[in-house]
Parts: sequence; structure tokens; C-alpha cells
Amino acid sequence: MWNLNVKVIKSGTCTIDPGNSASPVQAGLKYQLGIGGGSSVTVIREGQEVLLVDTGFDQEGDASIENKSRNLAFLEGMLALKGIRLQEITRVFVTHFHADHCNNLEYFDQAQWYALDAALAELKGPGKDRFTSLKNGEEILPQTLVVHTPGHTKGHASLHWSDGQGKIKVAICGDAIINLAWLQSGYVWKFNGDFYNQELARESSSRLLQQADILIPGHGQPFFKPARFTGVS
Ligand SMILES: [Zn+2]
Repeated sequence: MWNLNVKVIKSGTCTIDPGNSASPVQAGLKYQLGIGGGSSVTVIREGQEVLLVDTGFDQEGDASIENKSRNLAFLEGMLALKGIRLQEITRVFVTHFHADHCNNLEYFDQAQWYALDAALAELKGPGKDRFTSLKNGEEILPQTLVVHTPGHTKGHASLHWSDGQGKIKVAICGDAIINLAWLQSGYVWKFNGDFYNQELARESSSRLLQQADILIPGHGQPFFKPARFTGVS
């Protein structure tokens, strides 16, 4: 077996299904079902470094202390299930600055925070200096590259991990791929106010599919590349 040092801590969930409109009623019902809409959270281990990708914040519209505490407890619990303490995280990478991907970042005070330069360019406010800026194609860890995947937002970024022998390649997509249902439906998620470009969104997801075997989407479970994207029918 190959050694994957990529671990999904939490699979993101999705409050809007492909083909539906952004209905507050449906989102409200999904919340009641326990679907918080937070992003996937992934950890990559490399030697002493433990890199967390996105922080997976549920019910992003709820800025209350209670919701923050609930999210923190949930994330700590999910990390603990995988044998990781929050304090062990040495680096955090944010794919883009939407609350469902980056809220509760302040609890990772001990870690170095990273984002793509294009994503940081969109970040308003004084928090920018806290981040180490990365360029498209730059390594954040050995065998882990940052790639610009614009569309969902202008500066959106994803990560490519490979086992070093080119045998297994994993893409940590962020919202460049929402989930398998969205991908297979052919619809593009356009509900965020800062949505950038539909054509680029399609291009970015195609590039991720070309370059990876396993895809970890922003709001769903990891999946192997579907046959229709492998060129084999
Ligand atoms: Zn998201």
C-alpha cells in the first residue's frame, strides 16, 4: 500500500444542492438536520510539520460566541478522533477567505498561517500581515504545491500533494470543486457575492481533475476521479 500522509479531519457539508436556488428555507431546514455548511478540513503531515488546510466553520452566518465555541469544540473533537491536538498544528493554509473556510483561525495562534498572494490581495482589513504569502506553484511542504484555482473567487487556491513517486496524487480543492454531486451535475456554484468567473471556475476544476487521482472537495467527501474524467470510457 502507498503511504498517504494526507488525512481528512472533517468532510465539509453543503447547504445548497446542485440545480436548486439559494433558499433560506432549505438552508434553515438543513441546519436543523445538523448540516452546518462548513468546509472540509484536511491535515498533511511531513516530518515535524502538521499542516491544517481550512478550518471548517459551520453556520457561517452565525457570529455568536456560542457558535464559535461550538465550532472550536467540534474541530478539536474531530482532530482528537484522528489523534491530533490543536496545539500540534504548525501551519495553517487558507484556500480563500470565506468564513466557512477560515473562521476560528485565531485559535491556531502557535501556527504559521499561509495563503496564496492572489487570495491575500482580496483580504480586507489589518489581518494580512499575519500571513505568509505564497506564489502559484510554490511548495508549502515538500511534495505539497500551492496552485491558483480562480473562479469561485479571484484569488482562490488549492493544494496538490503527491507521494513523491508520482504514484498517487491528491488535490485539496477548496471550493474549486464543491463536491462530487456538484461536479457531476455540471452546475457551477455562483451563490457567493464575490463569485468571480464561471469559465475560470470550470477551467480550474478541470485542471484539478487532470492532475489528481483523489480529490478532496470543499463541501463533501473525498472521491476518486470519476471515469469520465480519466479519458478511459
Ligand atoms: Zn466554502
